[in-house]
Amino acid sequence: MQTTTRVAVIGGGVVGASVLYHLTRLGWTDVLLIERSELTSGSTWHAAGGFHTLNGDTNMAALQGYTIRLYKELEEITGMSCGLHHVGGVTLADDRDRFDMLLAERAKHRYMGLDTHIVGPEEIARIAPITNTDGIIGGLYDPLDGHLDPSGTTHAYARAARMAGAEVVTHCMVRETNQRADGTWDVVTDRGTVHAEHVVNAAGLWAREVGEMAGIYFPLHPMEHQYIVTDEVPEIYERDREHPHVMDPAGESYLRQEGRGLCIGFYEQRAKPWAVDGTPWDFGHELLPDDLDKIEDSIAFAYRRFPVLERAGVKSVIHGPFTFAPDGNPLVGPVPGVRNYWAAVGVMAGFSQGGGVGLMLAQWMVEGECERDTFAMDVARYGDWITPGYTRPKVVENYRKRFSVAYPNEELPAARPFRQTPMYDVFDAMGAVWGHQYGLEVVNYFATGDEPRVETPSFRRSNAWDATRREVQAVRGAVGINETHNFGKYRVTGPKARAWLDRIMAGRIPPPGRLALTPMLSPAGRLWGDFTVSCVEEEHFHLTASYGAQAFHMRWFLDNLEDGVRVENVSDRLTGFQIAGPRARAVLQAATRADVSEMRFLDVRRLTIGMVDCLVQRVSYTGDLGYEIFCDPMAQRALWSTLWAAGQPHGMRPFGMRAMMSLRLDRFFGAWGREFSPDYTAGETGLDRFISWKKNVDFVGRAAAERERAEGAARTLRPFAVDTLDADVHAYEPIWIGGEVTGFCTSGGYSHHAETAVALGLIPTEAAAPGLEVEIEILGEMRPARMLETPLFDPEGARLRG
Ligand SMILES: Cc1cc2nc3c(=O)[nH]c(=O)nc-3n(C[C@H](O)[C@H](O)[C@H](O)COP(=O)(O)OP(=O)(O)OC[C@H]3O[C@@H](n4cnc5c(N)ncnc54)[C@H](O)[C@@H]3O)c2cc1C
Repeated sequence: MQTTTRVAVIGGGVVGASVLYHLTRLGWTDVLLIERSELTSGSTWHAAGGFHTLNGDTNMAALQGYTIRLYKELEEITGMSCGLHHVGGVTLADDRDRFDMLLAERAKHRYMGLDTHIVGPEEIARIAPITNTDGIIGGLYDPLDGHLDPSGTTHAYARAARMAGAEVVTHCMVRETNQRADGTWDVVTDRGTVHAEHVVNAAGLWAREVGEMAGIYFPLHPMEHQYIVTDEVPEIYERDREHPHVMDPAGESYLRQEGRGLCIGFYEQRAKPWAVDGTPWDFGHELLPDDLDKIEDSIAFAYRRFPVLERAGVKSVIHGPFTFAPDGNPLVGPVPGVRNYWAAVGVMAGFSQGGGVGLMLAQWMVEGECERDTFAMDVARYGDWITPGYTRPKVVENYRKRFSVAYPNEELPAARPFRQTPMYDVFDAMGAVWGHQYGLEVVNYFATGDEPRVETPSFRRSNAWDATRREVQAVRGAVGINETHNFGKYRVTGPKARAWLDRIMAGRIPPPGRLALTPMLSPAGRLWGDFTVSCVEEEHFHLTASYGAQAFHMRWFLDNLEDGVRVENVSDRLTGFQIAGPRARAVLQAATRADVSEMRFLDVRRLTIGMVDCLVQRVSYTGDLGYEIFCDPMAQRALWSTLWAAGQPHGMRPFGMRAMMSLRLDRFFGAWGREFSPDYTAGETGLDRFISWKKNVDFVGRAAAERERAEGAARTLRPFAVDTLDADVHAYEPIWIGGEVTGFCTSGGYSHHAETAVALGLIPTEAAAPGLEVEIEILGEMRPARMLETPLFDPEGARLRG
């Protein structure tokens, strides 16, 4: 075994092998994979080997498409068989919501170039004849679905990597990972120590234990999972071609042909976490004892859906564990705060996702960033607030919901409430209907009277409609108040703070007492953040951005830190309120002795409000006259009392995130993760208007942004008024121009102020002529939409700036 290497990949399951292969493909060939037993000795060997593209997250779906297409290439490179069966697959829908979900998925697939289609019950009976289609409304057929040989595929990845120069060492156990002062790693194995520039944790079932060796907690948990292989089934072996996969969300099952019989697996409701206190090191090529009791209900359901099963004997039961993150997506990328340590863990669908995970991680390591937005699988999408006590119930919930409908407005209940501000009880008593963001309870809206305290999950307009409308009207008509707890907040201080911000941010860094909006770019010019930068004093800046991107942003800040600058994440050390609406100034004036009339739009001041020292910014995401007010959480209740009392004579009402997202649409403000993400550039999204081309600084991403400026962006973000029925745009609905899909929506909703449905979407720049009429496909319906030129509220900005 070599004693030095550029990268030590720990774990020879399908994921580790894919990472190794992709590193060599991108040119890093001095790489080593260390496996404690044979390759595939974790979850990989007993997987059912199924693969499919369907994933609620569009980028994950695209990476699954990449993984599936890769197998042919792997076979060609290595001459080995992956045992591919491209038999196609159909996902069934037996109620309206399930069908809506499939319609929404199909719509997304259009612009992704995936050739799926909606099929009716007769076609399902023809494609998958063992299906009892009673009660089935329709399904989504995907010709890319199929299955493979898990072991052959893992060995093919490893061989392809070896052919390019990588080393694979088996029967070698990693016992310690110790970091040297220069950031490199000593990987201590039972066959000696390897000095590695980088470590990749791809230890699958043992990812937690291997992480602990470096003091890292990964929020993942193994779950028990079972599938059954039947004896021969005449209806199967008498066919002249292989039976396709059938996914039946109502029965929580997936089914496929296995030899002359069938194989059916279940995501049962009586889900069981496995190895709660750690995966035993002596677990290897063995299975868990059969537990048919826990899948009894699912089996009974499957007998009704696939009557041939009832007559088929059970040949074998495969019951094994595999790992999940709380949201079911992998945990990939550079681990925040641990230099040169990379994660490729929590991959619950190694044969759908392993290729994409390997490609993204290799791009990140070799090229410094990925070609697409990987946030859905970024290990930094969870912060250091996460604990095993939170992870476990969330993982169980995710497992149980694996085949359920995922609604765009759904708030999942497990492990909540967890993180709360001092306002929780106050807002709860006022009728708050709670949402959940990055572990934090956030008010979605306030129910009144007999209104239920839960929002009905739906693809169509929900029961939050009336409350959202009331709250929007309160803001636009008088003044609204909500919390600033779910802003990501950073304090940047020190003599070099301004120079550092000038380099990290593309926009203008404001003078003392002022704030500015600025994009943060990646070296390749992608959007890595949209920030508000406030200069409190010359060497003290207050930054705000998306709350959910804290670990993502801090990782970048700390990786790029310089002497003379200090960056602190103060997201949870500061909270407060925003007040917005035409009466906001009067409320603030009534709450402080300072003269707020002299506070201009984009001014920043320290004010004492009631008893509380606050930082106040005159800016509002509602697009209205408004103030964002930040204070110490210990003083938040006192601040609330003052502002609420001052607000009552002016008709102040609390408002939640549903109203906020409606209000921002009036002025077409983008949102992080929707309009603004690493998938897009400043030029495409209009954030280039905040780039300071004049500043004499080579800010990160400048060359790429200058190039885009010279050439012009090929696509552009535009707002549309949509003529909808009972469903609004959420994200990724295709935009049709002249009968062709030419763009897609980034987000949308309903403007309760302007009383119109609104969509924001990317279309080809040359198509964006005034008066453009398009069609937007919403849940299978083509809805006419008209491009908007002027904001729906305060087009001159008189209220915002006045
Ligand atoms: C019953 C069942 C059915 C499944 N069906 C499917 C399916 O149809 N489709 C699909 O896509 N997925 C399926 N899966 C999930 C799939 O198995 C996993 O997604 C995949 O195997 C994860 O691979 P991995 O490489 O991340 O982890 P693992 O396969 O667990 O590999 C980790 C490797 O790391 C090694 N290792 C750990 N610690 C050390 C150490 N200290 N030193 C050296 N080596 C170490 C282990 O020995 C192991 O070989 C199924 C899982 C189960 C249990």
